[in-house]
Amino acid sequence: MRPENLNLDWARGQLEDCRLCPRQCRVNRLQNETGWCKAAANVTCFMEYVGYGEEPELTPSHTLFLTHCSMDCIWCQTADEQATSPHVRLTPQSLQRIVARGISEGARNLNLLGGEPVVNLPGLLLLFAELDELPPIVWNSNSYCCADALEVLDGLVSVYAMDLKTSSSECAAKLTKTPDYPEVAKARLVELYHRCPERILLRHLVLPGHFACCTRPSLEWIAAALPGVRVSLQDYVVMPRARPDASLGHFLSAEEFARAKGLAGELGIPLVERLPGQATAPAMAVQQQLDLGKPINGEKTIDIELILSPEGKLFLRHPNRPAAALAADIVNPQPGTGGVL
Ligand code: SF4
Repeated sequence: MRPENLNLDWARGQLEDCRLCPRQCRVNRLQNETGWCKAAANVTCFMEYVGYGEEPELTPSHTLFLTHCSMDCIWCQTADEQATSPHVRLTPQSLQRIVARGISEGARNLNLLGGEPVVNLPGLLLLFAELDELPPIVWNSNSYCCADALEVLDGLVSVYAMDLKTSSSECAAKLTKTPDYPEVAKARLVELYHRCPERILLRHLVLPGHFACCTRPSLEWIAAALPGVRVSLQDYVVMPRARPDASLGHFLSAEEFARAKGLAGELGIPLVERLPGQATAPAMAVQQQLDLGKPINGEKTIDIELILSPEGKLFLRHPNRPAAALAADIVNPQPGTGGVL
């Protein structure tokens, strides 16, 4: 798709006076001022690869992890990488190369995530204006942004992979440092629903110990306010920062996840599956396991993690093609490939 009708005046205006999210920092990012999220005017990324861990309809998906975020979630799965990886500035030329490589590796889309892509939206629009061609765009967002940030994406985005993290302001304040998250996210989701319900893929992370305060009210709201929208329930992986937390220091039990799925079913919410055992990568030769990490900009390899929860659930972080194939083999071992670890 050729990027057209990009609102570059809006993009430059936001860089001069940033109101992209409800924090309304109103900093001039073109003058090197930074607000709450610390994002600069340029777009920088800290990781990218063609991944096999998204929902089947998106996979393989060229995930481009952009730096900085408008929230601060205790369970963030990329905070460590973002803190320790080089932040590489994207130019039209480097983005064109990255996009071309993703397409050559079979990616069905360019998946913009982070961090949070909205804090990079003005810079992204300015970059896109320099490109001849873009693959279908997946906007992978926390839903915490201002209304016009989503409006300028009209016609550019194929799939809005949006979060509804919680319906509880108390939990949002404590766990994400964003007390107004529920009202803001719901307002954006309703606006998006009125424009393009078929393009929304709504994600809800099921947190251990947060069924009554977060999951139940979120699912009930989705069923009432966004009927027919597809929902992807996500299993919870304990990240180092969450370990001291009384409930989030533990993996989600199978019962808790089943309870969330059961409620979604009772409410008539269409669910989209996203499980490591459903990795869609074709089987690969065992020796390719030695090349699981793919160089990024010649400087770093991806750290792919296989995490086994105490209950025996297998999680795969950053599943590129060979890693996803390996996980699929572990979950559904083929003759001669069992016990490869
Ligand atoms: S995007 Fe960043 S600088 Fe802009 S309003 Fe939000 S937190 Fe502030």
